[in-house]
Parts: sequence; structure tokens; C-alpha cells
Amino acid sequence: MTIRFDGRVAIVTGAGNGLGRSHALGLAARGAKVVVNDLGGARDGNGGSLLAAEAVAKEIRDLGGEAIANGANVAVYEEVEAMFAQAKAAWGRVDILIANAGILRDASFSKMPLSDFWTVMDVHVKGTVNCLKAVWETMREQKYGRIILTSSASGIYGNFGQSNYGAAKAAMVGLMNVLHQEGQKVDIRVNVLAPTAATRMTEGLIPPNVQPLLAPETVTPGVLFLASEQAPSKVILGAGCGVFARSYIYETEGVYLPEEERTPEGVAAHFEAISDPSVQHVLEGATQQTMRFVTKASAAH
Ligand code: NAD
Repeated sequence: MTIRFDGRVAIVTGAGNGLGRSHALGLAARGAKVVVNDLGGARDGNGGSLLAAEAVAKEIRDLGGEAIANGANVAVYEEVEAMFAQAKAAWGRVDILIANAGILRDASFSKMPLSDFWTVMDVHVKGTVNCLKAVWETMREQKYGRIILTSSASGIYGNFGQSNYGAAKAAMVGLMNVLHQEGQKVDIRVNVLAPTAATRMTEGLIPPNVQPLLAPETVTPGVLFLASEQAPSKVILGAGCGVFARSYIYETEGVYLPEEERTPEGVAAHFEAISDPSVQHVLEGATQQTMRFVTKASAAH
């Protein structure tokens, strides 16, 4: 089985550097036509220039591929709409969206200006939602779409000093869970990537001796699988150093507390059993939790 993207059109945001550049090159090398989007600003999101996107689009073309450079700021819907229109005008469709653009403004919560919290949320959450909204109807009409949302271990597990970034990255999981359900009927598959790589974003954070292991190219094969025709859906895929792992969210079996024990003290007394991870339910959707609890409570009566 060889994964190819011939005839497919992809938009990769934040593709002027790091992971996005690697994903764009990887898609193009296997036949996709790629919109290389990048605002071209600094690590904290300040500034902007088309140079970064243009350089990667040229790299793709020099290798015999097809690419368009685009400098849209993903946080501005009108610019995202124009980028989408540019892709449609050039190639008539959009099959793959890799929402990858991102910035950092780290500080402990007590020292973080509120404006830095919302600027990070704007780029990651609003930026991703803008891109989703722009491509969604076309993917529905095409009855085909592959979407990869870029999360982070920071959002899934936590990282000191990244309350803004962690909140934004956790939002990717919520978006995936719902859009997976809404896209299922029309073959739109939505997955989340939790990468780790040595890029401008992690400069100064990764010890030099392990940097060679963490090349962005070690992540991209996972993204190409999630962008392929045989992609799964609603998967959180961790990737870095050539290691690929899956994260699950599960619910424990839980404990039914009869009315006389249904007090804060009762919850405290049973907290160990409530937390017991020996049974792990991975739920298909929200209503399954309600049904499970109703069934459990009914059985206890
Ligand atoms: P990077 O800084 O090299 O690349 C991010 C790119 O996004 C930059 O080229 C930047 O110009 C672009 N960008 C920023 N704001 C934009 C905007 N508003 N509109 C369009 N483009 C914009 O960083 P990277 O490490 O390659 O990060 C890529 C993605 O992976 C980000 O979402 C990041 O949060 C995520 N991520 C990275 C790591 C890691 O270890 N590098 C870990 C977890 C998650």
C-alpha cells in the first residue's frame, strides 16, 4: 500500500517553517497540490511577511511539485476566506486541511497579561475555527475531507507557563470530537496531532544533544497517514523522533452511591474506587455517558 495524494488539494497553515514546512513538502512529494500558508511573523506572532511561505512554495516547485504561497493571518476570517478562494480558483477543490499555524507567549498565569492569553487563543482556536469554517461546506459537498488539528502535549497533559497555549491546544480535542461526528456521514475525517519537534518554537527549550532526533520530518509520516484516504477519525496521535503513540480519553467504571451515601463525604470515601483505572471506557460520544450512568443506576435499584 503506497499512500499518494495525486489530484488532492491541501492547505497547510503555518507552513513557512518547522513542522508545517515539513508537512507541506511531504504532501507535495506524494502528489498533492499545496497552499503554503504563513503569516511570516516572529515566534510570538508579531510582524509578518510573505517571504517564509514563498520560500517553501518555491522549494516545492523546484522539486517538481505544485504549490501556491499565501500570507493570510489565520486569525482573520476574511483573509482565510480569500486563501480558500485562491485554492479553489487554482485547483477547484480542497481535500486536506492541516491547521498547524501557531505562536507562543509563555508566562506563569500570575504574570501573564490577559492580552497574551487571548492573542494565543486567537491564533490557535480562532485561527483553526476560521480555517475549518472556510473549508467545511466544500468538503461536505465533495463528500470528502481530511482534517488534522495540531494540538500539543501541553494541552493534553499540561505544561508550566502555558495556560494560554494549553487551553488553546485542548480546544483542538473538543473540536475534533464534535466535527468527527458531524463529518462522519460525508467522509470528512478529523484527527488531532500532538507533535514534538525541534523548531523555532522550541528554540532554547530542547537540549542541543537531542535536537537531531527531534527533526520535524520525524513527525510528518504520521500526518500524511492522517491525511490519507485510509485515515482513521477521532484519533489523537502523538509523534516525534520517529515515535508514534496514541492518546485516549477514558472514563473509569465508576461507583453508584445510594441516596444515604450520596454526600460529599460519600464521594470522598469512595474516591479511590471512583478513580480505579482497571476498567477503562472509551466513549463514542456524550450521550453514551448518560446512558451508561442511567443503566448503572437502574441496575442498582
Ligand atoms: P514554528 O514557529 O516553526 O512554525 C509555526 C508557523 O506558524 C510559523 O512559520 C509562523 O509564522 C506561523 N504562524 C503563526 N501565526 C500565524 C498566523 N496567525 N497565521 C498564519 N501563520 C501563522 O513552530 P512549529 O514548532 O513548527 O509549530 C507548528 C505547530 O505545532 C504549532 O501549532 C505548534 O503549537 C505545534 N506544536 C509544536 C510542538 C513542537 O515541539 N515544535 C509541540 C507541540 C505542538
